[in-house]
Amino acid sequence: MLRMDPFLTETPTSVDEAVALLAAHQAAGRSTKVIAGGTDVVPNLKHGLFDPEVIVHIGRVPGLKGVVDDGGHLLIGALTTLHDLSVHPLVQQHASGLARAASLVAGPQLRRMGTLGGNLALDTRCLFYNQTYFWREALGFCLKKDGSLCHVVAGGKKCVAAASNDTATMLLCLDAEVVLQAPTGRRTMKLEDFYVANGIKNTVLEAVDLLVQVRVPKAASRRFEGYAKLRHRNAIDYPLLSVGLRVDVDGGVVSAMRCVVSALQARPHKLPCDAWIGRAFEHRQERQDVVDGLKQLAFAKCVPVKNLADDVVWRREMVRVLVQRAFDEAIGEAS
Ligand SMILES: Cc1cc2nc3c(=O)[nH]c(=O)nc-3n(C[C@H](O)[C@H](O)[C@H](O)COP(=O)(O)OP(=O)(O)OC[C@H]3O[C@@H](n4cnc5c(N)ncnc54)[C@H](O)[C@@H]3O)c2cc1C
Ligand code: SF4
Repeated sequence: MLRMDPFLTETPTSVDEAVALLAAHQAAGRSTKVIAGGTDVVPNLKHGLFDPEVIVHIGRVPGLKGVVDDGGHLLIGALTTLHDLSVHPLVQQHASGLARAASLVAGPQLRRMGTLGGNLALDTRCLFYNQTYFWREALGFCLKKDGSLCHVVAGGKKCVAAASNDTATMLLCLDAEVVLQAPTGRRTMKLEDFYVANGIKNTVLEAVDLLVQVRVPKAASRRFEGYAKLRHRNAIDYPLLSVGLRVDVDGGVVSAMRCVVSALQARPHKLPCDAWIGRAFEHRQERQDVVDGLKQLAFAKCVPVKNLADDVVWRREMVRVLVQRAFDEAIGEAS
């Protein structure tokens, strides 16, 4: 049986109290870890991937759940569960790709515990890291924790563990923003700027920060959204590859387009799609021409590395397939 090391638990009842507790423990030299639904933190504690002295459980903080339409955006509380997100009428109406991505995270029980904030702040994953302490020790550990080399990239100086959070891929397509709260106040930033390219810690979150809200701009024109995910068991597994796609259409032509491929390395990969702005998108063949070009671009730009337990050649071949599936999902027809 895997056991957790002892830790102190704090259960704040407001955001201000939570960030103040984080700051006080940090100032006293104690390591902290935020826990929301706990679906990722608890297994990781059991594997010895984190060893905090204090756990700050934010699950009882009021006011951080639910979805509100402020006219221009959907405002989604960080403690909204993935299940609630996937079935929420506002999300299904204005961000159908996000509803789908949330519905494909893990399995039903985990989606009822797991939160949107926890999903966006999810740790990166790697074949050589998400293992027991004894397994990792036998290998001499690695750069991400306790060691000094990377087993994926020989001589690598940064960690290329995979971003594995399904909602991030789709929220990046939707130009979402995140609202963070620290003891010094709130700040809002683009989700794009929230992620960095080093899997040791692939977000800009500081130990005293809480993610409190996600802001999703509503579409100004007709929008198509799709999300496709590759995994071994559709009932539960993390992505081996994921593709989010959004196409805005105005007057029969593409007015904005985003495609994000993830589960490759630490930062989701945003493809440059501006070349398709102004392209006709009314008829089936016009749409297929757009996706064919996008498939070629994705295949050229996305090269998986051996950070997950699967063949990299197969994962790369599947990039084109997943772009087509995300596209079919977006326009509501199977090719
Ligand atoms: C078997 C299994 C399969 C899974 N499959 C998938 C999958 O397919 N796709 C996927 O995306 N995830 C998957 N997960 C991971 C996890 O269930 C989800 O990502 C979930 O959304 C995490 O949310 P949580 O609230 O449980 O996060 P927690 O476990 O509580 O926290 C996760 C991380 O986020 C931080 N955190 C949480 N909330 C906040 C906040 N508000 N502010 C700042 N930091 C915060 C924590 O400190 C921690 O680092 C799987 C997990 C398991 C056990
Ligand atoms: S990518 Fe390298 S450094 Fe990162 S977790 Fe895997 S083996 Fe460790």
